Amino acid sequence: MSEQPIRLYMFQTGVLKCKENNIKMNASLEPYEIPVPWYLITHPKGNVIIDGGNAVECATDPVGHWGGITQIYWPEMTEAEGCENALASLGISKESIRYVLQSHLHLDHTGAIGRFPNATHIVQRAEYDYAYTADWFAAGGYIKKDFDKPGLKWHFLNGEVNDEFDLYGDGVIKMIFTPGHSPGHTSFLITLPETGSLVLAVDASYTLDHWNDKALPGFLASAIDSVRSVAKLRYIAERYDALVVTGHDPDAWPSFKKAPEFYS
Ligand SMILES: [Zn+2]
Repeated sequence: MSEQPIRLYMFQTGVLKCKENNIKMNASLEPYEIPVPWYLITHPKGNVIIDGGNAVECATDPVGHWGGITQIYWPEMTEAEGCENALASLGISKESIRYVLQSHLHLDHTGAIGRFPNATHIVQRAEYDYAYTADWFAAGGYIKKDFDKPGLKWHFLNGEVNDEFDLYGDGVIKMIFTPGHSPGHTSFLITLPETGSLVLAVDASYTLDHWNDKALPGFLASAIDSVRSVAKLRYIAERYDALVVTGHDPDAWPSFKKAPEFYS
């Protein structure tokens, strides 16, 4: 296990081209382009990936990999942006990844699963189960070949029982149960030695409009749970005086440092 200082790196696997109303409920049909973020946390106990963005196959064969949902969300990314390649260019070895943490299992978050030989994959049990049994309106968002791979090591969390699940027991990486966008959605509270705390809302809050109760998201599994999860994260962000990073925000995302720069 390589000794790494505690740092947070932000990455992106390109963008998704969609319409504004896919992101903000009842908004326009105008073209809208959203970033697809993912994260690496280096840590002395082992490096941690959060989500991994799109599978790298989207760079060369979006329709082959994602199928019909590409008519709604069109991925544009390069192979260099695939999470394995992005980490290699940073000098982070595949073997050093100890955990892959899944906010949820939608197709633009599953790019790391099964690509790191020593990784245990952590997700809410409710999300894993739903990914195989999704309702008609949500089923297109789950690409089984991304997470249904032989020999994967999984560790399942159990909703409220594992609320604020502290990965290493040192307060650096906490997984916060935030259902609504999907049944087992999880956000993250990251606390760094110098920067302090960051809330990675992921898809619990696509944009600051959602964060500030100005718009409902254009996709959700439960409106009530979505709104309550945002309220819960706002409370946590206030308690920890945290920097808030929303999940697919074309306006806010450019303001954050991207790898190879980092937060320490
Ligand atoms: Zn999602």
